[in-house]
Amino acid sequence: MFGRMPRKTSNNTKYYEVLGVSKTATPDELKKAYRKAAIKNHPDKGGDPEKFKELAQAYDVLNDPEKREIYDQYGEDAIKEGMGGSGGADMHSPFDIFEQLFGGGGGGFGGSGSSRGRRQKRGEDVVHTMKVSLEDLYNGATKKLSLSRNVLCGKCKGKGSKSGATATCSGCRGAGMRMITRQIGPGMIQQMNTVCPECRGSGEMINDKDRCPSCRGNKVSQEKKVLEVHVEKGMQHGQKIVFQGEADEAPDTVTGDIVFVLQLKEHPKFKRKSDDLFVEHTISLTEALCGFQFVLTHLDGRQLLIKSNPGEMIKPGQHKAINDEGMPQHGRPFMKGRLFVEFSVEFPEPGVLTPSQCKSLEKIL
Ligand SMILES: [Zn+2]
Ligand SMILES: [Zn+2]
Repeated sequence: MFGRMPRKTSNNTKYYEVLGVSKTATPDELKKAYRKAAIKNHPDKGGDPEKFKELAQAYDVLNDPEKREIYDQYGEDAIKEGMGGSGGADMHSPFDIFEQLFGGGGGGFGGSGSSRGRRQKRGEDVVHTMKVSLEDLYNGATKKLSLSRNVLCGKCKGKGSKSGATATCSGCRGAGMRMITRQIGPGMIQQMNTVCPECRGSGEMINDKDRCPSCRGNKVSQEKKVLEVHVEKGMQHGQKIVFQGEADEAPDTVTGDIVFVLQLKEHPKFKRKSDDLFVEHTISLTEALCGFQFVLTHLDGRQLLIKSNPGEMIKPGQHKAINDEGMPQHGRPFMKGRLFVEFSVEFPEPGVLTPSQCKSLEKIL
């Protein structure tokens, strides 16, 4: 059916013999056989460490559908090559394998270990950007967001079946992934891992009659949820607000986080640089020379009266700093930065001054 691999098959029965199982052993049979032999040969119980290591190695390979496939087809040498040629650089410690399966070290034999065997993966984080105004960051704000997410089906508690029973998918032996082999040229084959089409990656099969009617065997259902996002005073553009474990739920998965990344909308009047605020203000030449005052509405609606000191003159491009009227500091909102008013000076239209007015100005200036 396939082109011949240029590689010779090495011993591909030893691991089965070590565990004392047939070549068609199911994952369950493998686990039982390994458990029995590993307990008997555990060095803590006076067993032979070499034998214990051999058992772990055999189990590590056969328990992994991908490695098992390679082993069945090409034997032990192919497995060792795949691990970098050093004969087990990637190999897990025999004790790790034992403890991962049966829990706790020391005297902890005899635990059922049924739930420890499957490693929990971590679900993906869901990242949203959240637009905020400068007013939001100055005053603090609470935003309600309605999101829909997957939650474990409440009817079947995420099992997908009424009875809670699931069978291991025969197509992938429970791995959810399957190695497919295809010929890409004469004497050349390519192996690739794909999601198992029979169980769509879940590694399990549910009997049609036993299927949970609520989620139709999907194990999860959609839920609408309203999240209240508290934007705190002084938060920065790009800052993240994290809702731990609020992302999509999935069976045997540690639920990821929902992350909101703040995105500051441009403000028509104020600019922010760290904790300082900048505002531009245009005054007339007369105001620049003789004094000015104006009212500035701040980000919280307060009206600030800004005026020149007696005798003060403003040059174009000059700024005035007002302490404690900048942005509140995040975490210490009573501490505030500075507010800078940057002035531009508008000159009178040409021809406004008569020659005699100019004469009087010359006298003064
Ligand atoms: Zn499958
Ligand atoms: Zn269900």
